[in-house]
Amino acid sequence: MGAFEHRCEVCGTTALLTPDEAFDSGWDYPPRMGMWGVISPRTCGHCSIADTLWWAIQQGELDLADPMGWPEDRRTTLAQILNESQEGLR
Ligand SMILES: [Zn+2]
Repeated sequence: MGAFEHRCEVCGTTALLTPDEAFDSGWDYPPRMGMWGVISPRTCGHCSIADTLWWAIQQGELDLADPMGWPEDRRTTLAQILNESQEGLR
């Protein structure tokens, strides 16, 4: 798989990386970590899993049944994940 744009959901930084390059620099990102289109952390090497959408759902801070009630940045992250294709971001 070639390089594709990675976007950290916490700090918003983007980087054009291959999956191996992303993994080696500490990103939690599909396809090495998690699956496309499935909620899991999308973070760069500097950000914490505890600031991710995935974590907030695990902690019960966000209700998956009511995403319209979420803060806008959380909804943006959900939309990003749900819009992923097998090649990463569209
Ligand atoms: Zn980050």
